[in-house]
Amino acid sequence: MESIVERFLRYVSYDTQSSEDSDTFPSTLKQKALGELLARELQAMGAEDAHMDEWGYVYATIPGNAPKAPTIGFIAHMDTATELSGAYVKPRLLQYEGGDIVLSAEKGIVMREEEFPCLRNEVGKVLIVTDGTTLLGADDKAGVAEIMEMAQHFLTHPEIPHGTIRIAFTPDEEVGGGPEHFDVPGFHADFAYTVDGGEVGSLNYENFNAASAVVTVHGKAIHPGSSKGKMINACLVAMEFDRLLPAGELPSLTEGYEGFHHLTDMQGSVETATLHYILRDHDAEKLEQKKAGFVRAAAFLNEVYGADTLELKLRDGYRNMRQKIEEDLRVVELAKAAMRDLKIEPRVEPIRGGTDGCRLSFMGLPCPNLCAGGHNAHGKYEYISVQSLLGCARVLIRIAEKAAE
Ligand SMILES: [Zn+2]
Repeated sequence: MESIVERFLRYVSYDTQSSEDSDTFPSTLKQKALGELLARELQAMGAEDAHMDEWGYVYATIPGNAPKAPTIGFIAHMDTATELSGAYVKPRLLQYEGGDIVLSAEKGIVMREEEFPCLRNEVGKVLIVTDGTTLLGADDKAGVAEIMEMAQHFLTHPEIPHGTIRIAFTPDEEVGGGPEHFDVPGFHADFAYTVDGGEVGSLNYENFNAASAVVTVHGKAIHPGSSKGKMINACLVAMEFDRLLPAGELPSLTEGYEGFHHLTDMQGSVETATLHYILRDHDAEKLEQKKAGFVRAAAFLNEVYGADTLELKLRDGYRNMRQKIEEDLRVVELAKAAMRDLKIEPRVEPIRGGTDGCRLSFMGLPCPNLCAGGHNAHGKYEYISVQSLLGCARVLIRIAEKAAE
């Protein structure tokens, strides 16, 4: 039987980078090449109904032999991040004995233990690293390989009791499109897990509530020599607006459950200025307070400079899946119990972002996020250990077994 490592290396050899600047779905057609491969491999393993649909989603079923067990879905995304190329990935396996890792001697690219303390937990393991010029794509091809390993396990061991298992591989997660055309009714699972998290044992079912704001300031440009009492400099008003926001609530000053507002872009002249913000908080009520703070700041400056000087547009984005997951915590308890059976201590952590699963949870498919095992995603220092690949695959297998007990 093929090893999970060979599988993983084959998947990362496909360039599946998604794109923010695209009108097509999936955002890049090359993602479908991996989708076709995965559908073929699932068919060859004997999975039922393995296919890729018109949008590039791959679905398959492993029929259950324990009729009372729930139908569980496992989901991973095929695309890689937009920050760094995922083409011509040249992974290297190394037996790690501690210290710095030279990714490219020629280019002087080194992963330093001091900068990446997570390396201290990897001594004695076999690591898969990049050559320092691309990302690795463990986010989320590790999740893909682990789900394929789980599928192969149950298809070659029909004697092991388990319920129906549904598999989905999605495109465009990295550009927020993963759930866009996901066929939740067709998937027909009682619940699911995205396999897109961090180190073995990590488990997430809380993510941010998200909103965005666009502030447009309409100034009054007048010759500076004769502008006394008349000019309104839109840039300066925009800066005043930002100063009225809570100074400590920035991404660079917050962690854990602390929310933030984040100025992502600003443009301006004397005549007009525009500020783009994102607002994030795990607590929906606190996010509302942040939005109210934006409304107050805009109203105050409109009083000072005249009505309609500032225009504020607030938009709600994704929501914290916690409220959906908490309706029935069995999906979390099952994952925790499966990990403990494997002597892995589950670590429940809030995500400071969103996942495919948060939208899917609100689309009717409760969907927490499970460990996929990778580190330093979205960059050239991305790596995963062979032990983590195997460990995460075992977690998936154990979840399916446990649900049938
Ligand atoms: Zn991911």
